[in-house]
Amino acid sequence: MIRGIGWSGLVWSSLVAPGFSRTIWLILCFNRACLADCMVTNLPIYLDHNSTTPCDPRVVEAMLPFFNSAFGNAASRSHAFGWQAEEAVKCAREQVAKLIGAEPGEIVFTSGATESDNLALKGVFEMYAGKGNHIITCNIEHKAVLDSCKHIEKLGGEVSYLNVKENGLIDLAELEAAIRPQTILISIMYANNEIGTIMPMKEISAIARKHDVLLFSDAAQAVGKIPVDVNADGIDLLAISAHKMYGPKGVGALYVRRKNPRVRLTAQIDGGGHEKGMRSGTLNVPGIVGLGKACELCLVEMEEETVRLGSLRDKLENALLQMDDTHLNGSKGNRLPHTTNISFKHLESEALMMGFSKELAVSSGSACMSATPEPSYVLKALGLDDELAHSSLRFGIGRFNTEEEIDYAIEQVTKTVSRLRETNPLREMHKNG
Ligand code: PLP
Repeated sequence: MIRGIGWSGLVWSSLVAPGFSRTIWLILCFNRACLADCMVTNLPIYLDHNSTTPCDPRVVEAMLPFFNSAFGNAASRSHAFGWQAEEAVKCAREQVAKLIGAEPGEIVFTSGATESDNLALKGVFEMYAGKGNHIITCNIEHKAVLDSCKHIEKLGGEVSYLNVKENGLIDLAELEAAIRPQTILISIMYANNEIGTIMPMKEISAIARKHDVLLFSDAAQAVGKIPVDVNADGIDLLAISAHKMYGPKGVGALYVRRKNPRVRLTAQIDGGGHEKGMRSGTLNVPGIVGLGKACELCLVEMEEETVRLGSLRDKLENALLQMDDTHLNGSKGNRLPHTTNISFKHLESEALMMGFSKELAVSSGSACMSATPEPSYVLKALGLDDELAHSSLRFGIGRFNTEEEIDYAIEQVTKTVSRLRETNPLREMHKNG
């Protein structure tokens, strides 16, 4: 019975019935061998937290009333149901703002980072058409940014795509050189979703400010994982996604600076004029409450979690890099604490993932790109050849992973790599020259 409960079951039961879960916890602690066993019997182990995260049970608990008992429309001004929903949205707005050092009035709720990216890029492009038509971004951005830029190019905009260096960072001199009199926006992601590299936002902002250009950052992977402060970082627009930080899917936010400078946007969804006219549509109150709660938890727990996840990630990474023909992708130092991306030369990542699919859930890169047979454009941008890019796995460790699970993952990956390599003719051919 204990085996069937699993780790997330324990988290749940500790909320629902603390006494019950304490008893179970004691039983588990009593038998350490059983404990280790239990933690790895909840298979497959989820190590794909850059793709999405499980909703934290505390977030679910906060959201639940807003599906039925507190179901009001936050825009209904004439009755208590509406006021209750409005109050919950106000509280969430404060929670989101606090996490990124913003004012509540600077938060626009959206359906996620994809919509926030679209709104920031297209909204600035349309609003500042009188000033210029040039945007600067980089070639390892998420598709939500790159495809919005392609759309803008079709509308007559001009976009410069900066290359990144082998470590996944842009060259600041190249950024400054790309600025033209018509440049209205620099769009550089805070942290990359495939390799976890963190961009030097303060330095990027200093360049943007010097040339009086707005700075937008897609921070879907960064917010809640590392400290992000829009004022200290000098960011004018910032995209957030709830499901990357233990909140629900389908909800996010766009930070829009109101002072120094005041940023204005052309709405991309017209309707009832919600969110100060920047994003019409009845507010997703349960989702917004979930996003707020997720932000509150991240603010409190981030510091401790960073240390714990960093040490689990390093343990996994160091063990895997001990194998022959492995290669770490991206910068080792400047990275999200929970992410590592490793190439296993002469092996196809698909074959590897199939080899341990019952035991581990990892990915070869961005979930939105997993349907395409092409190698990752992010890894190619770092200079990897097709073969190496095709042999890479991204591991994203999360809040509910345990050290036992990481040990188990090391064992499974090592075993699978060795087994596949033994039978791999490519590797033999390579070894024999
Ligand atoms: N931007 C980045 C960097 C991401 O990693 C993702 C999700 O994978 C997105 C944007 C899209 O976010 P959402 O799923 O909230 O639309």
